[in-house]
Amino acid sequence: MVKDKRGPKNPKQFDLYTFVAGAALEAGKPFPLECNCGGVVTVMPPFQDEYVVCARCESRIRMLVIEGDPGYIIGADSDGTPKLLPVQGSSKPHPSKLSEAEREAILAEVRAQLGAKDK
Ligand SMILES: [Zn+2]
Repeated sequence: MVKDKRGPKNPKQFDLYTFVAGAALEAGKPFPLECNCGGVVTVMPPFQDEYVVCARCESRIRMLVIEGDPGYIIGADSDGTPKLLPVQGSSKPHPSKLSEAEREAILAEVRAQLGAKDK
């Protein structure tokens, strides 16, 4: 659902993709970027690279910049189930910090928009 406007896609080039708040990049301060393995990469300004490498598992993590400062974006599991994906570097709470009710309300809205697809 996120298009890379900066060039042709080459999915093999990166191991992981993560979303980063544009506000974090504009702030010009280092911020922690969590890898799937639990490792944390500190992203240092200036941000010249579009990816970082996890020191723990050596994954190349492509940073997809989301405009503004959203705490999450809507994504989907491989089976199409909508879910909230965290946006790193955001000052907003991580989606896992939202209450169950808040998360459900957001996801219910998404499901409605998607036409209530069942898996
Ligand atoms: Zn890692």
